[in-house]
Amino acid sequence: MKDKKEKSWFGILLGYAEGSGAKLAGSVALSVISITCGILPFYCMYKIIDSFVDNRITNAYAVKWCLLALLAFAVKVLCFGLSTGLSHLAAFDILAALRRRAADRFLHAPLGTVQEHSIGEIKNIIVDKIDSMEPPLAHMVPEGAGHILLPVISIISLFIIDWRLALASLVTFPVAIICMGLTFKISGENFDIYNQSNAEMNSTIVEYIEGIEVIKAFGRTGVSYEKYAGAITKYKTFVIKWLRSTWVTMKLAFVLFPSTMIGILPTALWLCSRGDINAAQASLAVMLSVSMVGSLAILEVFSENMRQLKNNVLELQTYLEMEELPEPTARAEIKSFDVSLKNVHFSYTGDKKDEVLHGIDLELPQGSFTAVVGPSGGGKSTVAKLISRFWDVTEGSISIGGVNVKDIPLSQLADLVSFVTQDNFLFRTSLLENIRLGNPLATDEEVIAAARAAQCEDFIKKLPQGYDTPAGEAGKRLSGGEKQRIAIARMILKNAPIVILDEATAFTDPENEDKIQQSIAALTKGKTLLVIAHRLSTIKSADNIVLLKNGEINASGTQHELLEKSPLYRSMWQAHIGAKNWSVSSADKEGILNVQNA
Ligand code: ADP
Ligand code: MG
Repeated sequence: MKDKKEKSWFGILLGYAEGSGAKLAGSVALSVISITCGILPFYCMYKIIDSFVDNRITNAYAVKWCLLALLAFAVKVLCFGLSTGLSHLAAFDILAALRRRAADRFLHAPLGTVQEHSIGEIKNIIVDKIDSMEPPLAHMVPEGAGHILLPVISIISLFIIDWRLALASLVTFPVAIICMGLTFKISGENFDIYNQSNAEMNSTIVEYIEGIEVIKAFGRTGVSYEKYAGAITKYKTFVIKWLRSTWVTMKLAFVLFPSTMIGILPTALWLCSRGDINAAQASLAVMLSVSMVGSLAILEVFSENMRQLKNNVLELQTYLEMEELPEPTARAEIKSFDVSLKNVHFSYTGDKKDEVLHGIDLELPQGSFTAVVGPSGGGKSTVAKLISRFWDVTEGSISIGGVNVKDIPLSQLADLVSFVTQDNFLFRTSLLENIRLGNPLATDEEVIAAARAAQCEDFIKKLPQGYDTPAGEAGKRLSGGEKQRIAIARMILKNAPIVILDEATAFTDPENEDKIQQSIAALTKGKTLLVIAHRLSTIKSADNIVLLKNGEINASGTQHELLEKSPLYRSMWQAHIGAKNWSVSSADKEGILNVQNA
């Protein structure tokens, strides 16, 4: 398997070149012409020297060959410019294709697979790793072809002059190649560690910057900074050690590989003194060996770049081939909006011993209000996410209107289910556009109506640019509850027939709570509603309350039934009321009255 990968990494890369193949090929062709023209001036010099040695040189003859040399040089420069221009266009096309593909993969993979990677790691891949592929792609492919060709032409020319010259030019090669092989072997062994510590440093830096508010608030600058600095020092120490381990062999290879002159100069002089070649041929041989030096040195750098490119492509490939949630292409015919969970088992790792849901049976009839309550960690959010198919169940089934969610295309499922959580992500665009995300086809009037229904109008109007305020700027001023209402407005606009609220009102202040309750009422009217709540007073009117504990349904029924039959629910209710007693909210009395009624 690994072998197959090794062989085809370049093929994989070219696979992403899509329409840029022709550009790359053109660039290679131009580069070959450029390099060939680069050798011609040496031949012109040879002709001049030859006629000079033979004493038959004339002005016209010298000028002719000088002009030819100049022309060849001009073509070389022109072709080189065109070649790099084309190769850069192709390289940027490939980078864009890779980034699009990566984003597409992250979208279609199960959410769990995506969340296994830290933001730092993902940024490292999509931004840095892909970016680092630009110089090798833009330069290595076209120029590499030319620089391979040049030594080949030179050595063939040397053979034509005298086979001993050709052999002499290769005298340092065996040792140089051994040194290069050793370098690759030693540094290759540590490449995985390099990647790991690079990813670790990236994640730590991103975490530090993202968490800067918490770090400041808790005065943990010292500890966090130490972790940050530690990751950087660790990376630095490793890289220095890594480079040091290959320093001697690498430098030896760098020096020996292009040292063609060591063999050629004495051999040329010796052959010339024996009369086997003439002075002009000897100088041509020396010039050819000089011309090879540049190409060989560049090839050496390229071989190092090539290795990095290969590693990057292979690493990227694990993301680009991330498993997809299998998904049908045809839209499913959904006749009702009943949601049904049958014997649902689920494990985040896929391992039975890590199972967090152990056979959940739950019916949410269309238009009904179901609440899920229970101790933290019991699996409530997991149930909610499984209905939205963020993951696939390990055993059992979830269906909507009798159709298994696996048989509903993800885009259709997204239209069917609205999922509201505490995380209310606002994109970097205006508030109006943030709400319009719920339904891209909605008119401004419809967006504003949704905002009004979600109780957003008051605070949005107070912002300097109103609905056009950029979310980033507004985000700094908006409270959690206000952001929550924007998210709810988005969902109202989306108008999905099934609504899931996961602790959507858990941490809002009493003043906001009232407004949020109103906005939620607007969102959930007539919908199949699943509410996960820890404020039991907010779900007491539910048609069915499900008590989930340790991944199993402990009890279910109306509030009245549960208070009667479930000791756990009773104690949760009492704890809730007790907590409420301490607060000064007007809802207190209601809660207490309720428990007395019960
Ligand atoms: P609740 O919402 O009831 O508090 P969750 O559904 O969030 O519970 O969690 C149920 C169990 O699954 C917990 O043991 C939790 O640690 C685990 N869990 C939740 N999310 C993940 C995840 N992304 N990966 C692995 N385990 C998880
Ligand atoms: Mg939860």
